[in-house]
Amino acid sequence: GGGNQGPPKRQVKLEKECEFRIEVGETPLRLRLVSGTAEVFGTELPPEIWLTFHPRLKFAVFTWYGATLEMDGTTETDYTADETPMITYVNVHAVLEGRRKRAKASSTTNPDSSQGPRVMVVGPTDSGKSTLSRMLLSWAAKQGWKPTFVDLDIGQGAITIPGCIAATPVEMPIDPVEGIPLEMPLVHYFGHTTPSVNVELYKVLVKELSLTLERQFTGSSEARAAGMVINTMGWIEGVGYELLLQAIDAFSVTVVLVIGQEKLCSMLKDVLKNKPNVDVVKLQKSGGVVSRNPKLRQKSRSYKIREYFYGIGNEFAPHSNIASFSDLSVYRVGGGPQAPRSALPIGAEPTADPTRLVPVNINHDLLHLVLAISFAKEADEIISSNVAGFIYVTDIDIPRKKITYLAPAAGDLPSKFLIVGSLTWVET
Ligand code: ADP
Repeated sequence: GGGNQGPPKRQVKLEKECEFRIEVGETPLRLRLVSGTAEVFGTELPPEIWLTFHPRLKFAVFTWYGATLEMDGTTETDYTADETPMITYVNVHAVLEGRRKRAKASSTTNPDSSQGPRVMVVGPTDSGKSTLSRMLLSWAAKQGWKPTFVDLDIGQGAITIPGCIAATPVEMPIDPVEGIPLEMPLVHYFGHTTPSVNVELYKVLVKELSLTLERQFTGSSEARAAGMVINTMGWIEGVGYELLLQAIDAFSVTVVLVIGQEKLCSMLKDVLKNKPNVDVVKLQKSGGVVSRNPKLRQKSRSYKIREYFYGIGNEFAPHSNIASFSDLSVYRVGGGPQAPRSALPIGAEPTADPTRLVPVNINHDLLHLVLAISFAKEADEIISSNVAGFIYVTDIDIPRKKITYLAPAAGDLPSKFLIVGSLTWVET
């Protein structure tokens, strides 16, 4: 590039403990650290190197001691803020750090004292939960820990596509542009972007994920001492609140960080007061957090799916594959037609089993849906198994009984068991 068109490069000088908040527009923004030190959500910027932030990204560059930045490109908005909750946030990190050190120093045979902090971040939508989770993970990783990131937010997950709950170790500060590198995330597919579609199934999957992590932690004192950071959904009322309590229990959470919600904080303090090993801490919401309306949320879900197949900057080349109907077994969990009363034992009432596996006929209804590929070896293992990845159905040929789908790679799927929910995508 390097033509003479477009806006000139621009320098921004930041005083200590200030942040520069940016909403990238429809074109990428290049930015670099010219002098001083600065970080993006807990990850330090490398000196001098130009980074390209993708369109529509909303982020902040924070400096503890002062910095000068240089930008190339236009932004939707940008401004400097000198009031941030970063000091409180880093103080939380310091407390967690102390607990990790204590856990590491303790005898590994004692499951309680060798367990590092299990932190859950809660609060309404757009309170900065994902961002705080990310900072806590990156600061911990910078100090050499490998904390486990658990994301229970099926609406706007940070680990994989929407509709999933997932976990992955974070071994390095999270890249401001690329996000978390995914070796082998542990993913369960719920298949919908709101838990209300099947609350019981959501709970079952949360429990499955927690059990798997518990098993992994038993075998790794390193992972145990580093602990977890759990990001949650913004649904905090009614059933949403019940789900938070269930997750606190399932993951044996020891620290609950409540962002910007007095009421939720006092409710949690009250209900957890009999558990002396659980701390509930209220934190201020950052003024930089950007609210997203339902339409933007929908768009960002769609980008996440696109990113899964194509990468952030179109660096992946997904494959279009064709399979015969008979090679695949598609299941839906819960719902579906119930057994007729006549088929039940006398006196039994037909109940909708939320975790019942319902075989799904392959037909046009699957078009444009995103399906998960289960690791299950048998159909009855589907709920307890995590998923290998996803496919996107692009064509159904009924006469030839062939299904065409997009997958990250060519070749056979790792399993014939596929899970379908209501997650759709329209390729743009
Ligand atoms: P939640 O997880 O509670 O829904 P997020 O952490 O995803 O909220 O924050 C919402 C949006 O605001 C995200 O796009 C995030 O990158 C942005 N954001 C968060 N904190 C800041 C900040 N200090 N400056 C600029 N943007 C921010």
